[in-house]
Amino acid sequence: MSAPIIRPLAQMRGLIRRWKAHGETIGVVPTMGALHEGHLSLVRAARERCDRVIVTLFVNPRQFNSPEDFAKYPRTEIADAELLGPLAVDALFVPEGAEVYPPDHATTVSVTGVTEPLEGAHRPGHFDGVATVVTLLFNMTQPDAAFFGEKDWQQLQLVRRLVSDLKLPLEIVPCPCVRAGDGLALSSRNQRLSVAARAQAAALPQSLFGAAARIEAGEAPAPLLAEAEAALAGAGFGPVEYLALRDGESLGDPQSGRPARLLVAAWLDGVRLIDNVAVTLPG
Ligand code: AMP
Repeated sequence: MSAPIIRPLAQMRGLIRRWKAHGETIGVVPTMGALHEGHLSLVRAARERCDRVIVTLFVNPRQFNSPEDFAKYPRTEIADAELLGPLAVDALFVPEGAEVYPPDHATTVSVTGVTEPLEGAHRPGHFDGVATVVTLLFNMTQPDAAFFGEKDWQQLQLVRRLVSDLKLPLEIVPCPCVRAGDGLALSSRNQRLSVAARAQAAALPQSLFGAAARIEAGEAPAPLLAEAEAALAGAGFGPVEYLALRDGESLGDPQSGRPARLLVAAWLDGVRLIDNVAVTLPG
């Protein structure tokens, strides 16, 4: 049995009103579909904590940097609904583009600071698109908790900042990154890699984990990150947009005594891959 697909906002709101009237808690898992085990791990976390689980499926045009990338994004709605069936999802909410952004829509939500380096520097407008759609999805689904993957680390910090700054009455629950057997972080974009490129892609997590271990062992980050970038280029990646050690929360310069994060974005076979890992800086 597939998860029930709900499209009109009015219908979604009717269900939510009924659930809330019974005192039930609601968990939401925002996605762009083409679901894989990474998404399903978020759904399981929501299922454990909340009485009702809504998965949203909306390929948000405002967070893409080109119409071609938006058009090429995989769309597998029927298969997604089937995958969610066994997980007892209460609703797969698939709002229409015209209902999310009617022609007179004029509001953008913009978070400064945490959104500016890394992804923000390489994908202008991307995080405004994310902040706007996340705010809309929260308002449309009125959740008690929302579940986000650590796979998109900078996005997770943006969402935390947004919820804190706007005093939105919900909890953000971070969920660990799910990886394939060879270490590659699961991503809907991985399906666009050729068989050969998919085999090469394991070099990305290998470089990341290797560099993190050496930083934790006390090596100076700058030269070893340069070396790791060169190794990625040697493994067929290009360009490497960034490979950077940052503070885990602010995404500014790493601070000793605070959790740090090593983050990477690199192209392989015309596909842009991102990944990140925790780093404990030596004291
Ligand atoms: P997306 O459909 O790519 O927008 O992702 C929807 C949610 O799933 C986001 O919170 C992502 O961080 C999360 N997600 C995507 N891939 C993974 C993964 N491999 N492990 C854990 N969470 C993931």
